[in-house]
Amino acid sequence: MGYGKASQDFHEELAMPKITEEVFYIPGQDEFMPDAHAYVLGKPSSQNLSLIDAGLTRKGSYKIQSIQKAGIELSAIKRIIMTHTHLDHIGCLGEILRQIPWAEVWVHHLEADLLEQGDERAVYGMDMFREVCQSQFGLKPGAFKFQVNRKLQGGEILDLGDTEWEVLHIPGHSMGSIGLYHRSLRILIPGDVVYADYAIGRFDLYGAEASELKKSLMRLAELEVDILLPGHNQIVKSLPKGYILKTAKQWEPYLR
Ligand SMILES: [Zn+2]
Ligand SMILES: [Zn+2]
Repeated sequence: MGYGKASQDFHEELAMPKITEEVFYIPGQDEFMPDAHAYVLGKPSSQNLSLIDAGLTRKGSYKIQSIQKAGIELSAIKRIIMTHTHLDHIGCLGEILRQIPWAEVWVHHLEADLLEQGDERAVYGMDMFREVCQSQFGLKPGAFKFQVNRKLQGGEILDLGDTEWEVLHIPGHSMGSIGLYHRSLRILIPGDVVYADYAIGRFDLYGAEASELKKSLMRLAELEVDILLPGHNQIVKSLPKGYILKTAKQWEPYLR
């Protein structure tokens, strides 16, 4: 969910295109609501892979099939790491966990505590949205109570299947939003904080804070990024230098 260009005009023939040796891409399938992109991180030979984000309710089975079609054994998926816990990212976490029940769930601690208590404010973001989604999907209160196996902190370095990713705590779109950054490959997975086409995540939902989002964008602007793999819309394989800073500057008047 974000502001800016909403159309999704990225089409791939493969169910799960490979971005690099250690990054696969599962495009979201938007319908009347956005479905987050998911990514699979790790070198397949490691048999220690991580799924990044799950997606919207009822959007789990095609993602599992995409992984299988790519020749990856489901047993290699060891964990699901959430960039944040909005419905369009966590909606099908339960569906996916039923198929890979051994997978751990890793979430930034600020949203992990809510999930463990079954506090769904961060899932739906606002009451109106909760009511619409609950009736649209037949979701009951308490549908999003999960045990979190690892509560992440900004600054951690994760070894994910022979590849190292830095956890960046980038609040503003939600309080526990994280980005994953591969420093030598210059790959950034920013969740819903920044997208292609100079768009950024919305900042009017529960736990959001415009001034924090500005700080997070400025922080991301300091990173060297060639490949931007956001939660929605297009992915960018050769990001222009200064792109994130330019995006932050464009939005600055609104982020106070
Ligand atoms: Zn989203
Ligand atoms: Zn979001």
